[in-house]
Amino acid sequence: MHRNLLKVVGLAAVVFIVACAEKSTEMTDDSNILLAEWTGPYGGVPAFDEMNLDSLKPALEAGMARNLAEIDEIASNAEPPTFDNTIVAMERVGRDLNRVFAYWEVWSSNLSTPEFREIQSEMAPKLSEFQSKITQNKALFMRIKAVHESDEKDSLRPDQQRLVWLVYDSFARNGATLEGDAKERYAEINKRLAEIHTDFSNNLLADEEGYVTYINKDQLSGLSESFVQAAAVAAAEREHEGDYAITNTRSSMDPFLTFSDQRDLREKVWRTYYSRGDNGDDHDNNAIIAEILQLRDERVRLLGYDNYAQWQLENRMAKNPESAFDLMEAVWPAALARVKEEVAAMQAIADQEGAGVTIEPWDYRYYAEKVRKEKYDLDSDEVKQYLQLDKLREAMFFVAGELFQFKFTSVPEGVVPVFHEDVRVWEVTNKTSGEHIGLWYLDPFARQGKSSGAWATTYRSYETFDGKQTVLGSNNSNFIEGAPGEPVLISWNDAETLFHEFGHALHYFSSNVDYPTLNGGVRDYTEFQSQLLERWLLTDKVINNYLVHHETGEHIPDDLVAKIKSAATFNQGFDTTEYLASALMDMKYHMTDPTGIDADAFERATLAELKMPDEIVMRHRSPHFAHIFSGEGYAASYYGYMWADVLTADAAEAFAEAPGGFYDTALAKKLVEHLFAVRNAVDPADAYRAFRGRDAGIDALMRDRGFPVPG
Ligand SMILES: [Zn+2]
Repeated sequence: MHRNLLKVVGLAAVVFIVACAEKSTEMTDDSNILLAEWTGPYGGVPAFDEMNLDSLKPALEAGMARNLAEIDEIASNAEPPTFDNTIVAMERVGRDLNRVFAYWEVWSSNLSTPEFREIQSEMAPKLSEFQSKITQNKALFMRIKAVHESDEKDSLRPDQQRLVWLVYDSFARNGATLEGDAKERYAEINKRLAEIHTDFSNNLLADEEGYVTYINKDQLSGLSESFVQAAAVAAAEREHEGDYAITNTRSSMDPFLTFSDQRDLREKVWRTYYSRGDNGDDHDNNAIIAEILQLRDERVRLLGYDNYAQWQLENRMAKNPESAFDLMEAVWPAALARVKEEVAAMQAIADQEGAGVTIEPWDYRYYAEKVRKEKYDLDSDEVKQYLQLDKLREAMFFVAGELFQFKFTSVPEGVVPVFHEDVRVWEVTNKTSGEHIGLWYLDPFARQGKSSGAWATTYRSYETFDGKQTVLGSNNSNFIEGAPGEPVLISWNDAETLFHEFGHALHYFSSNVDYPTLNGGVRDYTEFQSQLLERWLLTDKVINNYLVHHETGEHIPDDLVAKIKSAATFNQGFDTTEYLASALMDMKYHMTDPTGIDADAFERATLAELKMPDEIVMRHRSPHFAHIFSGEGYAASYYGYMWADVLTADAAEAFAEAPGGFYDTALAKKLVEHLFAVRNAVDPADAYRAFRGRDAGIDALMRDRGFPVPG
């Protein structure tokens, strides 16, 4: 996942306009650390060691006030509107607020507390109002429109022309063209949405923290030693010394369901996890979903769109909901057919063992693991012995060096402030020239108050238009910390995710755009670069040099690698179906008239219509589908992962076919130039064509998943 401010504050898609950072020369309030200029090495770094929650509200308020004053100055300029005095001027402002958001992001994702969530709930609607004041500033929009329609625009460089269009479009798409009551209603809707997006994610976090399944020492059968240790620590942290805690997060649920021999407990953990936000209590999200859908629909209708999906996809690579549906519907039947085969194979094993069970959703991972062992003779726990977090990190640095010419050097503790003792920092430089490129922050371990899953984000992005500014990027995951001195071993899946998030970071570090807005991501394209980077985990150079046994230091045996490769299409029925069910649901929610919608009934009816297999549940059920309901970043856009995967599979085949394979120098150069460095300065479809010489087709994706390639 890639996080940005859109996700954090739950605003409409225009936040990037005010969220650009700069070295400003104006007065800053030095008494508030969150607003203060960043000082210290590397062009200044956030004062993460000094941040305090008491300063947050005043900092946000002062930051918003300054930003509005800056915007007013641009809007009331007596000179006729030009690219420089309007568009470029806007790129320059909002720096103070942007610094505050770097801290906000950390509190929201890495260090959340009830105190922060209270401030977040209070400030989200105020931030939305502030946003509306900018998008609905008539004088400002008239200037933007004038530049957009001017002769001057034709004389600008292509990236500058694109910048003008992006700024104009984000205003037009976000209510700037509205008048009178419609304009007022538009702002009201956004304010209310900001509130309930925040409520949605807070309810979810409350259920993740509030429901814990405690088990005792007689209920550990099947679980790995490392899992048991972590569960003991988790129980002790919650004053259940002597018990074992199965927390209500994916990283706890998934291994438990895969390995626990206790079927009744598997069912209990499964039900707890898939009921998040759906418990009919204070944290139930169903009514919030209905309200969100109604408000989103009403808002885009004010702008003349038929439905929310149409509005959302207009500036995506897919361009419209129909092309996204075409892709999903082309893959769906193959996924369902594969599920039938997978269930049959699992049922056969269960029958053979005399288990006397019919495969239920809480059995899928457990019996799939048995099939994996039988059919591929692949034992996840054996693979894990060769996957050390530290070594994998070195492997990623190696890949970054080969492809991107980046060198990562550990920054000694204390030089760059961090927000938690677990966080480490590396300096990124150009391998040949030594040029400083940025800093990479890594926050690897799970803790209470940290969002589950893994994500990447930036505290500062690249730009040059007002002097060069280097990148501060971060990767975040939820690995379970090992005992002191012990290496952290992770699963194959987690290793892929690690590479994935690092792909986002490389995308940040490669940027060579001039203007902050051109760093913005296109949602169905921005997962492509990160998904592509996962492919280097299975390259020979990584396998041979970095996958070594944590005790013996021996290289991973060839036959184990062969098994991993042959198992790559294993369980694709499950993976593709659980994902696509969520993606299809998301799109259907946002294309349906939501008047009087009941999320629970809608979900059931839609799954029935899709002929969803009984043995699988959506990857994210509606009441905890944070991607689409805790903000708008992935709303009507969850399909984007598969859209990006089509590009990924196709681009990976380009490397597989290249003379130098995945380390082919010429192709790597094209990769960096056309697919990473340009960010959003070039239309994604054009950028891909420049890399591949043609558009991407679906065939490579189908081959990848072991599905039949359509004739
Ligand atoms: Zn991602």
